[in-house]
Amino acid sequence: MIVLGIEGTAHTFGVGIINDSGGELKILADVRKVYSPAEGGINPYFAAEFMAGNADIAIKEALKISDLDIRDIDLLAFSQGPGLGPALRTAATSARTLSLYHSIPLLGVNHCVAHIEIGIHLGHLQNPLIVYVSGGNTQILIRRENFYGIFGETMDIGLGNLLDKFGREFGLKHPQGPKVEDLAKSGKNFIDLPYTVKGANLCLSGLLTSAIRKKSDENFTYKNLCDLCYSLQETAFSMLVEVSERALAHLNAEQVLLTGGVGNNKRLQEMLMLMAKEHNVKFFVPENYCSDNGIMIALTGLKMFKAGIRQKFEETKVKQRFRTDKVEILWD
Ligand code: AMP
Ligand code: MG
Repeated sequence: MIVLGIEGTAHTFGVGIINDSGGELKILADVRKVYSPAEGGINPYFAAEFMAGNADIAIKEALKISDLDIRDIDLLAFSQGPGLGPALRTAATSARTLSLYHSIPLLGVNHCVAHIEIGIHLGHLQNPLIVYVSGGNTQILIRRENFYGIFGETMDIGLGNLLDKFGREFGLKHPQGPKVEDLAKSGKNFIDLPYTVKGANLCLSGLLTSAIRKKSDENFTYKNLCDLCYSLQETAFSMLVEVSERALAHLNAEQVLLTGGVGNNKRLQEMLMLMAKEHNVKFFVPENYCSDNGIMIALTGLKMFKAGIRQKFEETKVKQRFRTDKVEILWD
């Protein structure tokens, strides 16, 4: 079966094509067009405009790389939510139009579940503790029967958002997360910042405000910025690792999966890996597939389809607030 997945929740218009004929899952094309604002954060309307301008190009490019025609596609999947309304609707419109015009079955996929499924698939994992960290989401989950249950999560902003907003205040260009990571490498002196863990949940907005306020300290220099990036990462990541470790101990999980855009961060990978090692459990991060992409959408669509899930056209409207734990997981 050949599946074309379309991702479009925030910054990336992604088109992934996979084929599972012959038992083994093959990735045929993975095209990603990434919107990056010249200044400031993501403007949802410009992101949508970017997607509208790139949808046709990206889909054609993915088909060409796969040496396929749209008529060869057996199933279309797209990111139904959560995400930025205008971006979601643009990606959904391209998927729904393709489906109607070419009579190809269509499935709306939960973006967060897709981040999880790609990790489980690539890591050959079985019921791992999931640490899902992206721009808008920060959740610690584990599968409970037919759902991904949330053990802990951010009470306010996502970890990626924290890094992006912090970086923006200091003039870094979007996405600021990787730039904060680079600057942190030159940081040496730890600056005290608020560390707020409440049971299995964490609070990040106070940490953001406090870190930004350091800018108004007299004599603030570039060197201080490196120290601040280092301290911000150490503080926020330690909070996340503390909650993850608590979850691991409570749930007796034997594997830890780190997924979502912030999962690209080498320091976070190192900290979670060390934690997993201390508990003698396997740690996995889907390198190259942490960031938003169409492959994870195609893969989740395929799993849904094989589990017998079908959606009527009316059911493929976007769901801007589509929680991870509201999706019925009907596959192993
Ligand atoms: P996603 O939407 O899942 O692709 O995640 C996007 C978020 O991941 C943004 O907030 C980025 O700043 C963040 N991000 C991407 N790469 C890194 C990195 N190397 N370190 C920290 N955050 C990152
Ligand atoms: Mg994402």
